[in-house]
Amino acid sequence: MEKILFIAHTQADGTLPNAAREALSAALELSGKIAGSTLTVGLFGKDVKPAADAIAACGAASFIGVSGEQFAESRYATDAAAITALARQAGATIVVAPTTSRISRAVAGAAQRLGGRIDTHISGLDVADGAPRLQRWYYRQRMVATQSRSQRPWFLVVDVGVFPAWSGVAGSAPLQSLAVDQDTCTSRTKVIGIQSPSSDTQTIRPEAEVLLVAGAGWTKKQADGQLHIKDAEGIILDFLQKNKASLGSSKSLVDQSSEGESVLPFMSHLNQVGQTGSTPRHPKGLATCCHGEEPHAVGWRFINERRAINLDAGCGWAQGKADVLYVADAFQVMKKVNELLG
Ligand SMILES: Cc1cc2nc3c(=O)[nH]c(=O)nc-3n(C[C@H](O)[C@H](O)[C@H](O)COP(=O)(O)OP(=O)(O)OC[C@H]3O[C@@H](n4cnc5c(N)ncnc54)[C@H](O)[C@@H]3O)c2cc1C
Repeated sequence: MEKILFIAHTQADGTLPNAAREALSAALELSGKIAGSTLTVGLFGKDVKPAADAIAACGAASFIGVSGEQFAESRYATDAAAITALARQAGATIVVAPTTSRISRAVAGAAQRLGGRIDTHISGLDVADGAPRLQRWYYRQRMVATQSRSQRPWFLVVDVGVFPAWSGVAGSAPLQSLAVDQDTCTSRTKVIGIQSPSSDTQTIRPEAEVLLVAGAGWTKKQADGQLHIKDAEGIILDFLQKNKASLGSSKSLVDQSSEGESVLPFMSHLNQVGQTGSTPRHPKGLATCCHGEEPHAVGWRFINERRAINLDAGCGWAQGKADVLYVADAFQVMKKVNELLG
């Protein structure tokens, strides 16, 4: 009989990250498909009771938690110890976890301590002949594999954007607190503070509803024979700010800085989408001034609804890569969109 444990950590405000609610849906779906399985929720963080209460109605058989000041911050030693203790307590044969940087940093250590196995970047879960199977992509999303393992415990780290985030009414979860053996928590790492970019400079937002992709066209000479880089900068930032969208880029645009051309200062290689960039997951994507060539468009595999604005009716997006192509000047269209967004 499989004993499934869903693990997650709380955020600074005590809530669960969206990725955790998605992984909870994955764990519930898996548990529903495996006859006789049980599902336990295991949380760690400074104070996990509010987060446990928020998902009290999810249908898990039990709730266990590791809490305390030392589990407030992301740190390998304490997080690995907490995950190990939760999995031991639950007698877990399968552990389902979200892909957050905090989980990703520590969960492999817990799998190792428990003599288990771990698979990451899971994009689907299923059951065949009573046994769980995972789906994940290889070779930059070109090949998809279905895998199973007999080794237990089996840690399954689920990618974001694959499962719907669990939502339901809050309640009072029967949370059982777990003490962690302090000998397993020893660490020389002290968290003295967190530095993060301000929300204005933070342009990559994995949980955003919309991905705005900017292409090299924004920095090219326009119909009047002039460059309009400052305009482009203002329009793009205005859209991001109003829509809380995430910003992607084509390779040509981010390469321009290293080639000494005019650039958008907030754009870096981290924004690049495509074969040699990222493959983000957002419900909607809007490509602007980007040609939609295959090495770029391959990074849109997980964008559900795709639209593009390009002056060229024969651009790549017109070749079946976008649901809607607006053949228009992106400067004009996006200015109007920003106006409408108010
Ligand atoms: C091995 C390899 C790997 C690669 N990996 C990647 C990758 O990961 N990601 C990636 O993006 N590329 C990648 N590329 C590069 C890719 O093939 C393209 O060269 C690149 O995507 C082109 O970028 P772009 O569309 O922004 O620029 P361009 O091809 O210069 O297109 C600019 C577009 O802007 C449009 N435009 C101009 N002004 C306006 C306006 N006012 N309104 C509307 N439209 C306008 C033009 O019509 C044009 O279509 C790779 C290439 C190779 C060989």
